[in-house]
Amino acid sequence: MGAENMERASILIIDDDASLRRTLTDILRVKGHDTLAAGNGAEGIALVKDNPVDLVLIDLGLPDLPGIDVLNRVKSERPAAEAIILTGNATLDSAIEATNRGAFSYLLKPYDIEQLLSHIGRALEKQREKERIIRRSAEMEKVNAELKVLYDVSRSVSKTIDLDGLLSETLRSLAEIGIFRFELKGAIFLAEGESIRLAAFIGLSETAVETCEKVGPGECLCGIAYAQGDILISTNSGDDHRHSKCIPGVPPHGHVIVPLKAADKVAGVLDLYTPPGTEFDESALKMLSSIGSQIGIAIDNARLYEETKSSALRDPLTGLSNRRFLEIQLEKIVGTANRYGNRLSVIMLDIDHFKRYNDTHGHIEGDRLLAKIAAILSREMRSADYLFRYGGEEFLVILPETDLTKACAVAERVRKAVEAEGEVTISLGVASYRTTMQDKESLVREADEALYRAKERGRNRVERAD
Ligand code: GH3
Ligand code: MG
Ligand code: MG
Repeated sequence: MGAENMERASILIIDDDASLRRTLTDILRVKGHDTLAAGNGAEGIALVKDNPVDLVLIDLGLPDLPGIDVLNRVKSERPAAEAIILTGNATLDSAIEATNRGAFSYLLKPYDIEQLLSHIGRALEKQREKERIIRRSAEMEKVNAELKVLYDVSRSVSKTIDLDGLLSETLRSLAEIGIFRFELKGAIFLAEGESIRLAAFIGLSETAVETCEKVGPGECLCGIAYAQGDILISTNSGDDHRHSKCIPGVPPHGHVIVPLKAADKVAGVLDLYTPPGTEFDESALKMLSSIGSQIGIAIDNARLYEETKSSALRDPLTGLSNRRFLEIQLEKIVGTANRYGNRLSVIMLDIDHFKRYNDTHGHIEGDRLLAKIAAILSREMRSADYLFRYGGEEFLVILPETDLTKACAVAERVRKAVEAEGEVTISLGVASYRTTMQDKESLVREADEALYRAKERGRNRVERAD
């Protein structure tokens, strides 16, 4: 900014004396200032609202409002603006009062023009200083707000261990802080071997999810950001040739894609939707990349947690999930069945006369047989079914989307498969979930009761809950 620009100010004259307004306007324009003029208080206040004025000259004797009120309004609308009070002798007291209330100075009418110009010069100097301070504190506020984003994101991601929660928490914190105008829409892709996988998303349509699931490294915006390991910004993705997997009919939007880095390795990318045309300045980019590493570290932790959890929820002998995991899974699956009215069945099965087998062949052989039965079960089940080692020589299978008749057919197939091995036989009880069931435990209990009947009725058979 040149010196000339620095001097140029926007000055408003509020005075009911038209000739005085004209004279002052002329003089101030010659001095290189922009001027505005109002003949009464209300007009003056309106101008202050609409224009970033630096200085206001206020006549105390206005026809509509007390000059003090006008001064108060000016100060509240434009805190950085200065005011000089012009007054006739009769209102000297109120002129003094006005300076006490924040006016820069006062001049008695008729005033000396040189004296007025000197007051104006000093008032503008003060105004500029004030402006600098305000600007600096706005910058400080921005830095503070940015630190708060970082703090909130890192706090929310470090307390969230599952990845779905991680993304929604991250998006929520970013949206709440409101520094970025993010939509509550986005996704997290995670590196998996040579590929990337859509791991979590929020606010995406089914079509969008299907499309994202097909994105690989180097493809579309997310794949490119992943391959390059740099923040990628697309201000309008409809026109962006890199946005190769565009979904027809989606309203205009932009993207910002942040690599999630842990220990300099790209663990995935965070994809956020932005309103079209959204740009990011240097400090916003810095913050985003910092958020990216926070999430990268959180993902690493989440993975570690999943691993520890899976070892705690897995049975080492058979490699199947254990009973603790069954509790967790059943809760989820029954919940889904309840919500969507899906069918759901379980099979409870138990090795026949296993005690005898142990006694004959020894405990180690017994263990080997348990592992073998687990393998047969895994082989016979669909990948959508869930297999658990329920107890010693008892297993439980959850069959989503399966009615009682179909589940009995599966049970019979398994029974035959074990029998065909010629070592032991198994008994099986089958039950199906009904929305009228009191709790998820009822389902397991019904299967268990059916199993008990299978034992009673001679073993090596399938019984269904009635
Ligand atoms: P039933 O046909 O009525 O089920 O008779 P069963 O002998 O199988 O039933 P019972 O409940 O009387 O005995 C179960 C046996 O399973 C007792 C125990 O020695 C054996 N068992 C349980 N867990 C293990 C294990 O981890 N390894 C081995 N080798 N045996 C086990
Ligand atoms: Mg048994
Ligand atoms: Mg038993």
